[in-house]
Amino acid sequence: MTNPTSEMRVEASSMALRTINPIRQIVDTLTIPQATDDKPFIPLSIGDPTRFGNLPPPPSVTDAVIEAVKSGAFDGYPPSAGYVSVRQALADHISLTCGDQPGPLANDIVLTSGCSHALDLALAALADPDDIVLIPAPGFSLYGVVLTSYGITAKSYPLLPERSWEIDLEALEDLVVPGRTKAIVVNNPSNPCGSVFSREHMVDIIEFAQRHDLVIVADEIYAGIVFKDVKYYTFASLSVNVPVIQVGGIAKQYVVPGWRLGWVVLHDRNGAFADYHKGLLMLSQRILGPCSLIQAALPAILMDTTASYFEAYNDQLQLNAEYCVDRLSKIFGLVPVAPQGAMYIMTKVDLNAFHDIVDDTDFTQKLMLEEFVMVLPGAAFSMPGYFRIVCCAPLSSLCSAMDRMESFCLRHCLTSGI
Ligand SMILES: *Cc1c(COP(=O)(O)O)cnc(C)c1O
Repeated sequence: MTNPTSEMRVEASSMALRTINPIRQIVDTLTIPQATDDKPFIPLSIGDPTRFGNLPPPPSVTDAVIEAVKSGAFDGYPPSAGYVSVRQALADHISLTCGDQPGPLANDIVLTSGCSHALDLALAALADPDDIVLIPAPGFSLYGVVLTSYGITAKSYPLLPERSWEIDLEALEDLVVPGRTKAIVVNNPSNPCGSVFSREHMVDIIEFAQRHDLVIVADEIYAGIVFKDVKYYTFASLSVNVPVIQVGGIAKQYVVPGWRLGWVVLHDRNGAFADYHKGLLMLSQRILGPCSLIQAALPAILMDTTASYFEAYNDQLQLNAEYCVDRLSKIFGLVPVAPQGAMYIMTKVDLNAFHDIVDDTDFTQKLMLEEFVMVLPGAAFSMPGYFRIVCCAPLSSLCSAMDRMESFCLRHCLTSGI
């Protein structure tokens, strides 16, 4: 029997309702002004390198997908962990970065819908409600979102701006609760910092993890995006005894974030992953992984993309970053922290220098209202007092953005008018 006057309401689950992304929360409260023709918007807020069209993916990448579609061989369901041949190609590729340590096998890899899904899967398979996972602050907001969603406790550990965003290892010690703390999430190169850890620092982090029986979850989506003469190591290449769950994907290196291809790679040490591996594969069967066509293109993407492509890409990002750091460091009231890789710069806002700026969110809001330049407040990354710039835009746009930021700061600084 139907009841036309039914007052039925469908309520969202408590899991859904505690899934809160701080970036959305902050962006949704910002007032977006109407830009004008003579002052167009300059969005330096979203970490999407395709935003301006100046960084196209290499032809090897687009060609590979076209070939996969045309072949007609990849229209069926792939296995839940991904095609074995594709995982083998990825295992071979990752083995090249493993240094003295053994490389992964195809069986140690699960292909996922982007690195976001890889993080979701890796963390869901790892911890139960009330377990603790350590995450960086400042850090990529998804870590906290995923953990909280599953009822796992996320504890933030501080990164130190005065030491190029190295982990504060002393503070880290105090966050470990024996028996409950399961893992430490590290992100290198870092979003939002653009920092790249030294080998020595990574060895210290691995030693910390070993001492407390923590698995390392290494978000290496920016692997290899480092500036000239900066040495980059994967955590797995340096870890002798600590098992490493590496997550990554093609979004940032190959400039195709919309294609949604990522991976979880288990770097086992002494059989530590026997049980976890089983759980991860069981969870992977909930969803059948990423689009078959993009999976099928991966071997060619990995094989055919030239070293000169990566060199040109990294050079462009470095040029952009150095330009922005130079300009920002000359603006009264702002203190940029120079990055060594990725595509971001964190800049401190010296609130004492301004007469009417109350915090970083206020800074970004007023900057957007008056100058149509969009950046994200540090609060979105658990680092109030800073803002993040994405430096993928063409130099001409970055130049205008810096000009506008400079006049904005001049207008609001305490000594203006003298
Ligand atoms: C962009 C990004 C991701 C997500 O990558 P997708 O493949 O687009 O899901 C994960 N971690 C960090 C640190 C990122 O910046």
